[in-house]
Amino acid sequence: MRALVKSAPTQGFTLKEVPVPTIRDDEVLIRVRRAGVCGTDVHIHEWDAWAQGRCKPPFIVGHEFAGEVEKVGALVTDVKVGDRVTAEGHIVCGMCHLCRTGNAHVCPNTKIIGVDRDGAFADYIAMPATNVWQLDANIPFEIGGIHDPMGNAFHTALHGTELSGKTVLVTGCGPIGIFAVGIAKAAGASHIVASDVNPKRLALATTMGAHSAVHPQDAEAAVQKATHGLGVDVVLEMSGVPAAVHQGFKLVRVGGRVQMLGIPAKPMDVDFATEIIFKGITVYGVVGRRMYDTWIQMTQFLRAGQFDPTPVITHRFPLEAHAEAIAAIKSGEAGKVVFEIS
Ligand code: NAD
Ligand code: ZN
Repeated sequence: MRALVKSAPTQGFTLKEVPVPTIRDDEVLIRVRRAGVCGTDVHIHEWDAWAQGRCKPPFIVGHEFAGEVEKVGALVTDVKVGDRVTAEGHIVCGMCHLCRTGNAHVCPNTKIIGVDRDGAFADYIAMPATNVWQLDANIPFEIGGIHDPMGNAFHTALHGTELSGKTVLVTGCGPIGIFAVGIAKAAGASHIVASDVNPKRLALATTMGAHSAVHPQDAEAAVQKATHGLGVDVVLEMSGVPAAVHQGFKLVRVGGRVQMLGIPAKPMDVDFATEIIFKGITVYGVVGRRMYDTWIQMTQFLRAGQFDPTPVITHRFPLEAHAEAIAAIKSGEAGKVVFEIS
């Protein structure tokens, strides 16, 4: 089969022929149809400090995908050949304290496909049956293939808070931030301010329902106007940029909530007393998707037609054009980038 491989500890990927994976008795083999490309893939491609510390080449990259079940292991009972599926790409142990208390998304033994084991930029992938998620018949593979980052956005937007009637600031309109704008809209937010430095991404945020989509330097004025000087009820921090994190703490109202998905590249200073404690705010750190309440929530929004992520997908490439796909993400101009694999 074809596979996009991180073959050596240097920059780049190699498209090559490799054997179709064998499956264990509790796994399924999935023919990959569509696969999302993500900033993490760019980190692995560039072989930055994070990738060097985490990944052990050679391995097949890619962690966002959807496809058709080709084969099931002897112990698999609830997934059938021909099922249209996507999958949770974080493979957890199921045995630890976190897994056993409903917090598998922070399992310390997590292995991520395309990072810690073979991934989805290939004709086939082997997945534990427990990670497989069935797609409704009317959900295209393209949308199945971006459930992972959409799930990040659902987790960030909806965990621990209702958004109905609430004012929301989304800092950072990369693909996940733009999804979050659409989710906040679908969940009934009364006013959504979205901020980014990139006009193309602000335009996508407007398409997905932002009431105001502004450059960060105009975010404070937009929030003050929308909230009559109070500050927003909820901030969804989707950039990982320190200036945006500080702005989020500043523009959340007293007693509000800041949901943090963006990952700062290095440690940053926070004035805990002023930014958090005396504001009485709640800060929630987002890791991946909750298993599987985030997935259920996402499926219900899609099923109800409340949320359609299609406009966020701006670029589609065959696997052979992997260099173009990475370049599209690096340009910062793309929404979601997807491989059309088969
Ligand atoms: P992205 O890099 O495409 O999006 C970040 C956006 O922030 C960019 O559009 C950028 O222009 C914008 N930005 C830069 N400076 C800004 C500022 N001062 N104010 C507002 N916006 C600003 O990333 P993405 O793929 O959408 O992911 C978003 C973040 O979430 C990244 O930091 C990523 O590493 C992180 N992430 C976290 C998890 C998790 O489980 N916690 C999972 C996936 C991604
Ligand atoms: Zn565990």
